[in-house]
Amino acid sequence: MKALVWEAARTMTLREEPAPAAAADEIVLRVAYAGICGSELSGYLGHNALRQPPLIMGHEFAGEIVELGALVPEFKPNLTTGSLVTVNPLWYCGDCEFCAAGLNQLCGNRRLIGANRPGAFAEYVCAPAKLALPLPDGMDARIGALTEPVGCAVRIGELAGDVADADCLIIGAGPIGLLSLQMLQYQGAARVFIAEIDAARLAMGEALGGIPIQASALDTVEMVREATDGAGVAVSLDAVGSALTREQCVAATKASGRLILSGLHEESSAMPVAAMIRSEITAVGSFAYTPANFARALELLAAGAIRLDPWVHEAPLDEGGTWFERLIEAPGDVSKVLLRPTPL
Ligand SMILES: [Zn+2]
Ligand SMILES: [Zn+2]
Repeated sequence: MKALVWEAARTMTLREEPAPAAAADEIVLRVAYAGICGSELSGYLGHNALRQPPLIMGHEFAGEIVELGALVPEFKPNLTTGSLVTVNPLWYCGDCEFCAAGLNQLCGNRRLIGANRPGAFAEYVCAPAKLALPLPDGMDARIGALTEPVGCAVRIGELAGDVADADCLIIGAGPIGLLSLQMLQYQGAARVFIAEIDAARLAMGEALGGIPIQASALDTVEMVREATDGAGVAVSLDAVGSALTREQCVAATKASGRLILSGLHEESSAMPVAAMIRSEITAVGSFAYTPANFARALELLAAGAIRLDPWVHEAPLDEGGTWFERLIEAPGDVSKVLLRPTPL
């Protein structure tokens, strides 16, 4: 099969690789669409210890089942050859305290498809059957491939809690920022401010109903404070993860408010902790999604409640390397690139 193999920092090559075969509890999919994730851009640059070359990345995908392992019909009878599925790419053990609590994304034994085992930037991908979800009737695989990033936004919305009639701030209008914006709106938030340096991304946030803050020209904290009579927002989300954006989120959050940290740009950075103490701000990390969040994401996509169109760009697999470079340098008005291994 054809596969896009990450071979070294900034080197991605289309190669002929052996096609995978399903073990007894696995399935093999013919990949229809596989999205490029922000975490894979840092992996591609070599900034990410989780990913080691040579590696077939790709954890946001949907496709058609072409092979079922021998035991699959017994424990997952809803999976059939020829049907379209998406896959929660985070394998979990199912036995630990976090798995027992439904927080499977925190499982100490977790493994990510596209990082710890070959991913979906290939014609075929093999996955544990327990992680597969059939797409609802009539859903295009193109939409199904967005389930994973939408799942991250569902988790962020869950951790935000009750945001009804509350003002919120999101810093960063990448895919997670844009999806979280829609999630907070769906949960009844009053105003959602969205701050972003890149003009094209900011325009996407504005088109989705966010109140734009051009962060390269304006002071995000000042703008938010002014618009909220000096109080700040009830919930802020840092979808970037730099020292500056983390600080800004603290400064823009009102007393007793909540700060959600999802951006992973910098591994560690200083935080204004005294301000958090004096304002009793709750800070919480948000990582991936629970299996329940993942299933909910698929429902929200099926209901048309959340979207990335018209900023989804489809590209053939052999253009993958070019798109990694473009997403790093100047993405422009493209929010999500979906690679298509098989010509339509
Ligand atoms: Zn992702
Ligand atoms: Zn576990």
